[in-house]
Amino acid sequence: METILTLNGISKSYGRIKALSGVSFEVPPGSVFGILGPNGSGKTTLLSIILDVLKADSGNFLWFGKHGSPEQRKKIGSLLETPNFYHYLSAVNNLKITNSISNRGDVTQINDVLEKVKLFERRNSRFSSYSLGMKQRLAIAAALLGSPKVLVFDEPTNGLDPVGIAEIRELIIELSKNGHTIIMASHLLDEVEKVCTHVAILKRGTLITTGNVNDVLVDDDLVEISAANIDALFSVMNNYSNGIKITRDGNMIQLIFPKGTAKLDDINNFCFNHGIILNHLVFKKKRLEAKFFELTNN
Ligand code: ATP
Repeated sequence: METILTLNGISKSYGRIKALSGVSFEVPPGSVFGILGPNGSGKTTLLSIILDVLKADSGNFLWFGKHGSPEQRKKIGSLLETPNFYHYLSAVNNLKITNSISNRGDVTQINDVLEKVKLFERRNSRFSSYSLGMKQRLAIAAALLGSPKVLVFDEPTNGLDPVGIAEIRELIIELSKNGHTIIMASHLLDEVEKVCTHVAILKRGTLITTGNVNDVLVDDDLVEISAANIDALFSVMNNYSNGIKITRDGNMIQLIFPKGTAKLDDINNFCFNHGIILNHLVFKKKRLEAKFFELTNN
């Protein structure tokens, strides 16, 4: 299957500020592709370039293996910032206006896209009566007009409460299952981990790493253990195995194993055979925070 988007050495400066420096990566078909990075790392600039809102200083990008054309642009739906909907109009009437401005789909699609974002029941309510989460879902409905193959979202859960965030995340997963490729910027590691299949990590405009989320973000195995006599446990665990790192944090001991090698039965057995009964044994596969910190703070 053809690559959805290919970036080749994209650079962009605003005066003396270098927002992007030679960024290259590929978005595979069917992926939920997260562009992850702290504030100011260049995510919005990058999305603006691939949507032809901004021009790169150098480098190029290909959608569906080709240089941009109006035909290809029709296959891309986007949500860069919340569109200006009319407060006194219903969802249906707002989408009619969006549709006539963008000239993407036909009006018969409106009920269908409202159904997809779960606003059909409220389709005739005024926009002003919507919660923030509903407003964001309507914006996604607008992006869905014209049945685009690809959806590009900038920080789609920004400013929402936990319920609104969960709804948007579910919706993104649902859209992906229905065959859309999704490219989204986020500064939230947790969001990327929950929603995305692939990731590109940016730091001050430079690509740090890219690939499958599991390859990029999964780190060593971390096992946390504790027992009534923490000192005894600590000294016993120092004889457990050579390939692991042991740290102590208050009443907890952390064992760090190379990826995929921690065996809880073994640890439990080992402690028992050395006269220690564990009262806490927890496997934490991903040390994502640590990994993200390591990737973006060096
Ligand atoms: P955020 O999560 O805060 O939106 P971001 O990762 O999307 O950040 P950008 O908005 O792309 O990052 O900004 C990248 C850099 O470019 C930042 O240093 C920012 O201050 C700068 N920048 C962005 N837009 C402009 C502009 N119009 N003029 C000058 N500098 C800009």
